[in-house]
Amino acid sequence: MERVQCIVIGGGVIGLAVARRLAMAGIETLVFEREPVHGSQTSSRNSEVIHGGLYYTPGSLKARLCVRGREQLYRYCDERGIAHRRCGKLIVAASAEERPRLQHYFGTARRNGVTELAWLSPAEVTAREPAVRCVSALWSPSTGILSSHELMQALLADLEAGGGTLACRAEVIGARLEQGKHRILVQQDAAQGEFEARLLVNAAGLQAQALARAFAGLDPATIPPRHLAKGHYFTLQGRAPFRHLVYPVAGNGGLGIHVTLDLAGGARFGPDVEWVSTVEYAVDESRRDTFAAAIRRYYPDLDASRLQPGYAGIRPKISGPGEPAADFAIQGPGEHGIEGLVNLYGIESPGLTASLAIADEVAARLGIVADLTAAHGALDR
Ligand SMILES: Cc1cc2nc3c(=O)[nH]c(=O)nc-3n(C[C@H](O)[C@H](O)[C@H](O)COP(=O)(O)OP(=O)(O)OC[C@H]3O[C@@H](n4cnc5c(N)ncnc54)[C@H](O)[C@@H]3O)c2cc1C
Repeated sequence: MERVQCIVIGGGVIGLAVARRLAMAGIETLVFEREPVHGSQTSSRNSEVIHGGLYYTPGSLKARLCVRGREQLYRYCDERGIAHRRCGKLIVAASAEERPRLQHYFGTARRNGVTELAWLSPAEVTAREPAVRCVSALWSPSTGILSSHELMQALLADLEAGGGTLACRAEVIGARLEQGKHRILVQQDAAQGEFEARLLVNAAGLQAQALARAFAGLDPATIPPRHLAKGHYFTLQGRAPFRHLVYPVAGNGGLGIHVTLDLAGGARFGPDVEWVSTVEYAVDESRRDTFAAAIRRYYPDLDASRLQPGYAGIRPKISGPGEPAADFAIQGPGEHGIEGLVNLYGIESPGLTASLAIADEVAARLGIVADLTAAHGALDR
């Protein structure tokens, strides 16, 4: 049996950010990822938007970690040369009935410490985005876009520079939890291996609940339900008529079918919300008409024949259809009573934006201090 100080399960943006954080605190960290490459699931099937932090319940983890994580992320992108652009976003009310929603966002944003929002009149919107129609809009200058692929490459490079390792095609199939000494069973190709670690982080995204159920010693009552909300994207062929992100007011389960831009200047629309029971990523072309109707509310000149099926992602939710949106669930010893274990559930949007702040939060729940000497002392094997 191999011994290591810390095992992180899942090589998505959250697992990599957590592993980097721990490795940089001097902790020997091993990441297991069951797919052939890291980051091939939710972390590469999203809008790649750096969110401002204006939607989330004040005081929630989503609100705090989004606002903190956003600034950490911009700094990290600058330092590491990760492709990104602080392009700003418009949130538009298509009718007078939608204005109160904008007012609600404005108030929530202020309470979240997002004070830079500005109101725009229809004429001011036209000056910025001639193709967009609305009765009023909010402007969020701190919203941006980034390359999630480059972000994960940088996190992985830091992890490796800190002595950590990522093992792909390595599926964790179970664990036996003891206070501060966990035994983890891993399937790598045809072979099974057993590892012992003092610290264990479950960042398995859509599989986090199934994995937690395979942890002997964890009270199953601590595991929240899993709800899957699939989001499809359509790309716009040809030149994009937008320079900024454009969002309608949010719907139930998602932020509404919005315009996001890629760093090459192309536009895509999405994601919609379809509650599903299995993980599969097909994009059904028959959704084009529904997309076109939603988009024409703020972009009336859309030529629907330019919409091409793009890709899909699945939100790992812990609240179901019609329920109020749940917060991120980051469970450490304080929640489940087991030393050296953190389970992450429901890390949907704004998880990418918040990834570096989530990593700090996980480290704190594990009692890791930034000071390397203290970390080494506490974790000597
Ligand atoms: C449609 C959509 C749009 C979004 N848009 C945005 C956005 O614009 N901005 C934003 O901030 N956030 C956005 N998000 C949220 C963001 O994408 C997620 O919060 C983030 O990617 C979650 O990362 P993760 O590492 O937890 O999950 P994942 O990327 O899914 O990583 C989990 C990894 O664990 C691996 N794994 C699972 N089980 C095991 C096992 N037993 N052993 C080993 N490995 C295992 C999986 O293969 C996977 O690679 C969006 C999400 C969706 C679905």
